[in-house]
Amino acid sequence: MSRVEAAPAPGIDILGHYINGNVVAATGRSTAVFNPATGRVSKQVALADADILEQAVFAAQTAFPSWRHTPPQKRAQILFRFKQLLEEYADEICQCITAEHGKVLDDARGELGRGIEVVEYACGISELLKGEHSKNAGPDIDSWSEFQPLGIVAGITPFNFPAMVPMWMFPLAIACGNTFILKPSERDPSASMLIAELFSKAGLPDGVFNIVNGDRITVELILNDERIEAVSFVGSTLIAESIYKQATASGKRVQALGGAKNHAVIMPDADLDNAVNALMGAAFGSCGERCMAISVAVCVSFETAEQVVKRLKNRVEKLKIGPGTDTSNDMGPLITSEALQRIRSYIEKGLEQGAELSVDGRELVVPGHEDGFFIGGCLFDEVTEDMSIYQDEIFGPVLCVVRVENLDEAMVLINQHEYGNGTCIFTRDGETARYFSDNIKVGMVGVNVALPVPIASQSFGGWKRSLFGDLYVYGPDAVRFYTRRKTMTQRWPASDKTEKAKFSFPSSPQS
Ligand code: NAD
Repeated sequence: MSRVEAAPAPGIDILGHYINGNVVAATGRSTAVFNPATGRVSKQVALADADILEQAVFAAQTAFPSWRHTPPQKRAQILFRFKQLLEEYADEICQCITAEHGKVLDDARGELGRGIEVVEYACGISELLKGEHSKNAGPDIDSWSEFQPLGIVAGITPFNFPAMVPMWMFPLAIACGNTFILKPSERDPSASMLIAELFSKAGLPDGVFNIVNGDRITVELILNDERIEAVSFVGSTLIAESIYKQATASGKRVQALGGAKNHAVIMPDADLDNAVNALMGAAFGSCGERCMAISVAVCVSFETAEQVVKRLKNRVEKLKIGPGTDTSNDMGPLITSEALQRIRSYIEKGLEQGAELSVDGRELVVPGHEDGFFIGGCLFDEVTEDMSIYQDEIFGPVLCVVRVENLDEAMVLINQHEYGNGTCIFTRDGETARYFSDNIKVGMVGVNVALPVPIASQSFGGWKRSLFGDLYVYGPDAVRFYTRRKTMTQRWPASDKTEKAKFSFPSSPQS
């Protein structure tokens, strides 16, 4: 059965869009949303056509002039109420996340918490938007820069963080005075819809935040709309690259974050118990469906590898897997049956190419959830650089162990990989840690921290083919991304001064 259908089955809800402060009913195409723990369709979601996008753009365009002139401190007050509502409705939001994504409820709480931190940061927008002033730049001349909003900004987001990744974008874009159109993942769109209603309830004027649900056809419409000034995208690398090329060619400002293959280096002097604990959460949390997930453990020295693999094997075999509604589980299901098939085929390729499958999660059955998209944790040892399980982003609970002789060999491996999102090193030696963090070609680096996801007041982004564009998401980079600098030069001479015409280029007087 094709996921996209012209008319949904009777009796199944269809999620519409959120435009101008109202839920807009679905028209036209829709697609199935599954509960990954049961494997059953839970609802349909509308796929926006040109008419729906037009409504959203019109609403955002109409709201912009007044919103851009709303004082930042007033915008912050709305954001503050929004933060309080997000906390008040956290259970409902997390239930939406778990029902459609599958992740364990505690993990959903973690993602929502990280999103709320960005809202908290955005509450400081008066401070963040302060310009830069130069008094007496010349005789009677003052100069300053101010940061003006761009206009309508769009965000296109992936399935794996249905609340947090949209919140990497819209709170700061809106705090900066822009209006926003979000196109969430069609796999798990409900959390965004609930969040949009809470933002309205917090006092956000209609049209400032809009949601168009949709798929790649909706994305095309967004990219082709000249009224949309900028696009923030997060998703897989090939799509990020194509969106970056297409949207920049038409003059939009774009940041497009792509996929990842994150390596953890385990040095012989590391505290191995702590390293393995950290690796377990980073590799298997959220079923490995995180762009910062550790998918490669690079063990430095034979003895380190033997010790790490022994500990990991024991732990991976004991992972507790089941529906995300049971918070005693370590890991829920994958997002779709297609993802399950893709990961199974990677495991077969790994075996064909000669890796050693130390833990095989393929036979896992979760009683009562036989049709859910579950797979057990998998551990590959003796993985080499040429294997597709090493090269490709698998995006599932598969950890590959690569054995190397020394730190430089580990670093060459990481630096040569096409992705450069996150990495980490486990060591007790400060000099080693400093050498690694200084020379590694990766955007986010952890030292004895397996998931070095920056806090809200820093910014998040990768290097190489993990990010197309110049500015990271959230934090100070987002304030720059969502604003345009305007530099003013102003002269107020005393009324008794008359200046002669000058034909040389204006410059500061030399003493
Ligand atoms: P995806 O690329 O399939 O989809 C992302 C978005 O693009 C969705 O909204 C989807 O509707 C849209 N889309 C899908 N196909 C499209 C097409 N052909 N043209 C235009 N738009 C299209 O990604 P996903 O499977 O939802 O998410 C997983 C991927 O996202 C992984 O590669 C992961 O590493 C990446 N990711 C990266 C980061 C990061 O910060 N770098 C964060 C989260 C996820």
